[in-house]
Amino acid sequence: MSLSLDSIRHSHPHLYRSFSSLPEGELHLQHIGELDRYWERVSSPPEEVILPADRLAGDAVISGEYDIIYAGGTLSMLHAAVMASTYGRKVMIFDRRTPAKSTRDWNISREELLKLSAAGLFSESEVDSFIVKKYKTGWVGFHRQDGSGKKLFMENVLDCAVDTDRLLGLAQEKVLAVPGNKVLDRTTFSCCYRFEDHIVVRVVDLEGRQFYYKAKVLADVMGILSPIAMQLNRGRAQTHVCPTVGTIASGFESADPEVGEILVSTGPAEREAGGARQLIWEGFPGAGEKYITYLFFYDEVESPNDKSLVTLFESYFQRLHEYKRPGPDFVIHRPVYGIIPAYCHDGFNRSREIADDRIILLGDAASLASPLTFCGFGSMVRNLHHLTADLDRALSLGTLGKRDLDRISAYEPNVASMAYLMKFMCYNPATDEPDFVNELMNEVMIVLDELPEHYRQAMFRDEMKIEELMLVMSRLAMRYPKVLIATWEKLGLPGSLGFLKNLAGWAFLQPR
Ligand SMILES: Cc1cc2nc3c(=O)[nH]c(=O)nc-3n(C[C@H](O)[C@H](O)[C@H](O)COP(=O)(O)OP(=O)(O)OC[C@H]3O[C@@H](n4cnc5c(N)ncnc54)[C@H](O)[C@@H]3O)c2cc1C
Repeated sequence: MSLSLDSIRHSHPHLYRSFSSLPEGELHLQHIGELDRYWERVSSPPEEVILPADRLAGDAVISGEYDIIYAGGTLSMLHAAVMASTYGRKVMIFDRRTPAKSTRDWNISREELLKLSAAGLFSESEVDSFIVKKYKTGWVGFHRQDGSGKKLFMENVLDCAVDTDRLLGLAQEKVLAVPGNKVLDRTTFSCCYRFEDHIVVRVVDLEGRQFYYKAKVLADVMGILSPIAMQLNRGRAQTHVCPTVGTIASGFESADPEVGEILVSTGPAEREAGGARQLIWEGFPGAGEKYITYLFFYDEVESPNDKSLVTLFESYFQRLHEYKRPGPDFVIHRPVYGIIPAYCHDGFNRSREIADDRIILLGDAASLASPLTFCGFGSMVRNLHHLTADLDRALSLGTLGKRDLDRISAYEPNVASMAYLMKFMCYNPATDEPDFVNELMNEVMIVLDELPEHYRQAMFRDEMKIEELMLVMSRLAMRYPKVLIATWEKLGLPGSLGFLKNLAGWAFLQPR
């Protein structure tokens, strides 16, 4: 059933009021409903969308032939632009909505963004053209009843607000600048047929018409809803999630345009009907007078909590004033939302499926980023250079089987271990006091505050080395021995062993 403003008028009154004032409120609500279908999907058997060649209808007409077809038009734009402009590959990108448009905005440091220049994608001046704001300093702080919570300040972490649509638009221009490439909107992935030496992708347009395209390889970049990821991972494409909602707005009375608020909690975990969760806010200065606020929580996919974006949005509008006070000129420019995926690998190395013969998963479809600090955009920026160079080599050599494509991955052992730590941020009413997450994070902030600034920057930029994490963890255990009991209670024997395996993998498999 598709969501409409009318249908939520009584059930979600705060969301209803706020979205009614937006020019595209109804459209956003529909999109949110579409993303919330993830919850039905994870509780049903996965669809079979990777099919053998003999299932392709004999009368299927091939409408175009490419080196790479990208299903999904967000982060794929970055990869496709490099494959087209640097490696001269013929590419096609399709998206069921509008390609190169996102429902999020991204924060990152300029130093990291310059990796996009190193990968040959953008010039330095192009990079500067989509940074719409650079704030001076940022901090992380968790609630303490008596107000004594530690505010940990750091510089050059997530301090650049990026105009996502401009960045993606520039990448799209580079794709289309090469004759023969194609970008299709309102085109939905339906299934694919695997042949020995190629793959055929079936798509459906808005009128329900089917088209077939042929490629050497299919890149699945369909995000958290990817049916390919669901099939390859037998319906368990994520172990954890971070439902996130927010707005780009202006007119707050209490927002500092020079300071970013990277992680902030304003109270203990909630234990209400339908929700046992530790809510966390983020606030980032945006372009001009704009200010971006997010509300999110970490959770297991399998928890009984209501993790829908529609419910979280209702909480966001209901509680926004507890975080930032909207003034008389408060205006919402647009909502931002999504389900950030996470996967805890049970092993020394990556344990999630991210490839099959002639199919490679990228971005959130691969779910290899850590939602604890950075997410999928940061991961793509860090890994773009080898993700493109390696795929080009595989295309040249014709090594496009599962085992070959498995090696072209954004898996980073340090990020995997950091993602594991997210389990501590998932509030569990059976094992945790309502202030558990706040107490623990306050202690982590105190430990980081006592170490040189490099430690906090490395932690919040997914760049930690194993010896650095070990030092932080040992200091934490000495300051706050309760963390050892909490580890046992929250992770149990299998979870604790899983984390140790991740750390061992990190120690012996150096990040590239
Ligand atoms: C509110 C929010 C803020 C964020 N901020 C940051 C940040 O500051 N830094 C950072 O590093 N990361 C951030 N992230 C994470 C980042 O946005 C994601 O990692 C990134 O968008 C993933 O891109 P993707 O292309 O893999 O997937 P998506 O962005 O989900 O895009 C998938 C695309 O596939 C299309 N699609 C889906 N199914 C089909 C289908 N069947 N057929 C055709 N097309 C389909 C969709 O329409 C969509 O356009 C944020 C996420 C959220 C939700």
